[in-house]
Amino acid sequence: MTHETLLSVRELRTWYELRKWGFFRAGYVKALDGVTFDLKRGDAITIVGESGSGKTTLAKTVLGLVPPTQGEMILAGEHLDGQKRGKALAWLRGNVGFVQQDPYAALPPFMTVDRILREPLVINKVSKGDQDARIDAAMGEVRLTPQSDFLHKYPHMLSGGQQQRLVIARAIILQPQLVVADEPVSMLDASVRVEILQLLRRVQETHGLGVIYITHDLSTVRYFSEYVFVMYAGKIVEKAEVRELIHNPLHPYSQALLTAISDPDPDNADTVKEVPAGEPPSLAHPPSGCRFHPRCKHHMPGLCDREEPKSFEPTPGHFAECWLFRQGGTS
Ligand code: SF4
Repeated sequence: MTHETLLSVRELRTWYELRKWGFFRAGYVKALDGVTFDLKRGDAITIVGESGSGKTTLAKTVLGLVPPTQGEMILAGEHLDGQKRGKALAWLRGNVGFVQQDPYAALPPFMTVDRILREPLVINKVSKGDQDARIDAAMGEVRLTPQSDFLHKYPHMLSGGQQQRLVIARAIILQPQLVVADEPVSMLDASVRVEILQLLRRVQETHGLGVIYITHDLSTVRYFSEYVFVMYAGKIVEKAEVRELIHNPLHPYSQALLTAISDPDPDNADTVKEVPAGEPPSLAHPPSGCRFHPRCKHHMPGLCDREEPKSFEPTPGHFAECWLFRQGGTS
């Protein structure tokens, strides 16, 4: 498997305008505020954070559903920043698959499985013979088999797990280079969550896909990705390999998230449930300095509330934006 960079993201910002009386600009909601990372071909990264951390805006920006305000995104050599239209948008749709959170809402209720999978192939002018072969292969990969039992069914005739398998089949049917999965198991029964994550992992490995897996639940990370990026208030505050982050979380926010873990595997009942104290900040008026300082028990007055922490690398390959690690930092 080649390990070249598939997606390069630099200082990405996606801000939403706030309007006063529907007319005057009253500021911005800085949903994504300076995010930088690389994803290598064949790797999966998990973006984890609470609601309001900016992780879904990151997904939407990479998918071309919202235009970035600033920054750079390059996928397989193609610049994705800027408003996408026409051929550029078609290229993006063909190269980035999307697995949505709610499979029932994501699937058109009036279309059969056959039509749902065939439509993107027709739009992309794939020949009839290839359409049938690709539908057969995609359904086989997600284990909607025997295919003939499912092709004529409508989404409401499928279980939640089968619906999400169909969403995954649709996401890979154009043979994309990257798949973005936004909370793909959060609406499923606990009994099928691990199964769907393992299926997604298998599909990723078979095709050497890059995957961005978005979740609020750190407990699912070990089933899936090589790297974890922790987001808070529009920024990535910690990056590390999965095992390293799970066993040695550095940022106080990551440590708090880890205490809130519950295992999605029904055989591993886990009882610890505690969320970081306080509320995520307003993204229209984020706190000065470190955005986590109002909730942080290690907050250093005069530093954390005044100066935004830089990215420090206390151990090789493990980065944290926190002043606790300024000794020996990279910046
Ligand atoms: Fe806490 Fe300060 Fe680190 Fe922010 S920079 S996480 S406030 S110790």
